[in-house]
Amino acid sequence: MPALDETSVQFLKGVGPARKKLFGNLGVHSIEDLLYFFPRRYEDRRKITPISALKPGEMQVAAGFVSAKGGRRSFFNRKHLFEIILEDDDAKVFCTWFNQPYLANYFHPGDKVVVYGRVEVFNSKIQIVSPEYEIITDGDETLSTGRIVPVYPLTKGIGQRYLRKVMWYALEHYAGDLADVIPAAVRERQALWPVGKSLRQVHFPDDEKAQESADHRLCFDEFFLFQVSVILRRLSFLKKRGFAHFIPKEFHERFLRAFPFCLTAAQGRAIAEIAQDMQKKTPMLRLLQGDVGSGKTVVSFFGCLAAVTNGHQAALMCPTEILAEQHFVTFTQYFSEGPFGEVRVALLNSALKKKDKEALYARIKAGEVDVVIGTHALLEEGVEFRDLSFVAVDEQHKFGVKQRALLSSKGENPDVLVMTATPIPRTLCLTLYGDLDVSVIDEKPEGRGAIKTYHFTGAQAEGVYKRVAEWLKKGTQAYIVYPVIEENEKADLKAATDMYERFRKDDLKDFQVGLVHGRLPKGQAREVMERFKRHEIDVLVTTTVLEVGIDVPNANVMVIENADRFGLAQLHQLRGRIGRSEKSAVCILLGDPASDEGRRRLEAIIQTTNGFTIAQNDLEIRGPGQYFGRHQHGINELRVVNPLTQIDVLEAARKEAVELVKADPALKAHSLVRGTIRKRYPEYLKRVLAG
Ligand code: ADP
Ligand code: MG
Repeated sequence: MPALDETSVQFLKGVGPARKKLFGNLGVHSIEDLLYFFPRRYEDRRKITPISALKPGEMQVAAGFVSAKGGRRSFFNRKHLFEIILEDDDAKVFCTWFNQPYLANYFHPGDKVVVYGRVEVFNSKIQIVSPEYEIITDGDETLSTGRIVPVYPLTKGIGQRYLRKVMWYALEHYAGDLADVIPAAVRERQALWPVGKSLRQVHFPDDEKAQESADHRLCFDEFFLFQVSVILRRLSFLKKRGFAHFIPKEFHERFLRAFPFCLTAAQGRAIAEIAQDMQKKTPMLRLLQGDVGSGKTVVSFFGCLAAVTNGHQAALMCPTEILAEQHFVTFTQYFSEGPFGEVRVALLNSALKKKDKEALYARIKAGEVDVVIGTHALLEEGVEFRDLSFVAVDEQHKFGVKQRALLSSKGENPDVLVMTATPIPRTLCLTLYGDLDVSVIDEKPEGRGAIKTYHFTGAQAEGVYKRVAEWLKKGTQAYIVYPVIEENEKADLKAATDMYERFRKDDLKDFQVGLVHGRLPKGQAREVMERFKRHEIDVLVTTTVLEVGIDVPNANVMVIENADRFGLAQLHQLRGRIGRSEKSAVCILLGDPASDEGRRRLEAIIQTTNGFTIAQNDLEIRGPGQYFGRHQHGINELRVVNPLTQIDVLEAARKEAVELVKADPALKAHSLVRGTIRKRYPEYLKRVLAG
């Protein structure tokens, strides 16, 4: 029998070619993919509340038959309103949806329906607004009612009940065939459930406890395989031969004196660690972690200069053009003709004209450029170095593992420094980045003014703009930030642009107002930023392009519009743009949070400026599973797991992984582990498990 990861879902009952395609939209191709397609959440439908017992204010499940339906315009806001009346033996409840007229074709009198939502009293009637809903037909009673029911992420054409049916069928027929990747001895020691049982219980749990045990087992799998791959990668890395840079004490000291400020002790430690690594023949792979404003950039310059004074080249990659530009300017200011003689530094971004770009490529290849600072443009095929020995990646969470690898592949095992402001608790960091060494900058430069953060409602905005005008008059500069999210980009950009016009003509007409966002023509954003830096612009209306890295110390006021629409980490990054001088700074959050989450985020950001505390809050507010976005941390391969909520499992898995690799470094006796890792982390392990 072919393996389940090679058997198409089309072999399942109820899946034809059309549905197979739709499953593809969900990333589900094989039967194994389907079994590992996990519920977004669960609904406890063991307790269906009789309609007469529904309690206002609570989230509840009710069931009944549709006795009437109808659509109309709402009297209040002219929105389309569709309503059904659901009846059971002795009571009825109104279920209401706005702007979904098509529901009229979905529900029919007599349908048995289960709904889930917050119960309210309106005009002395019991109602549920926008509940989750499902029509129950006889055949699927057992999958959709009277149990803990899985709720899956969906795509058009694949509904909950259908998916549950197919899933049930797949579990019945195939879950038992899955080979157990975890070696029996490990399973026993860790008291893990068999994989088949775990999959059944993660989809259709008997009760909460069963679901937890199943989760535990599946998390363990993920962590274990991930850890084995990380450890193998680390081992293979240690065998590589890279550059042994010569870094005399005198060089080190000269570097420390190159700035108009004293480096912090933490910066000094990080630099010393980098110096040590770079002198070794094995390549460096080091993560530099430090909160926003802790001064990571100058630390990366140390590596660049060490490479250059040893006769090699260095590259620094940034996620945005603005940031690349800024690092380029800073580097030039200190080092182009500074204490290390002439250092030839170039800026490479996609704004370069074709001719200039080609000329620059040629100079890089000939070794006529020492340090290249740039964006993703650095990764292009045409970029070849003569002799690249040091690579730094700024804000590395914006890049994937692949991109990091691609940049280093432009040299012969160069030393690599990746930088991030995403705070991760120390123990977790060691485990997740088992293949990286870690330096932490845990203090900020002295003499930074405090940042005060306040929340005002949208109705108070005018007053806030007046205050901003007063601050501007005193010579400080300000940011006014607008959220732009992908789904709503057009409208969001328009809001920012409209407000820019309004500020220019009205609220802030006595000042120079600038606008930057991600859709400006090439070069224009840069020009505006430069003018802001030179203080030819007083107040910058901007979108989230500001989020990473920008450094303008005289900007000490920030207004964040619709602040509840931003994530916590994002708010923290944004606020990190101010408070960069000795003056105190003010951050004003404008907005009327509609959700509880939104409110809690604002509270959290007001309470502290400590990145670690904020990360922890973020986790608590968001709940499991959402903390790590894709592409973050190089662990985007993980399927089920939120490492932060599962630290125990993570640590147990790491221990077992270490033991396994110690006993069997080539995984000769563990071909299933080896095969699975090779399949699951192909990029990560390309060469490690070759053969
Ligand atoms: P981040 O860690 O967020 O990348 P940056 O490297 O952009 O921070 O540094 C923020 C600002 O602090 C820059 O203007 C930089 O020149 C300045 N800076 C860095 N180190 C120190 C220091 N030791 N003392 C004073 N200012 C510093
Ligand atoms: Mg930075």
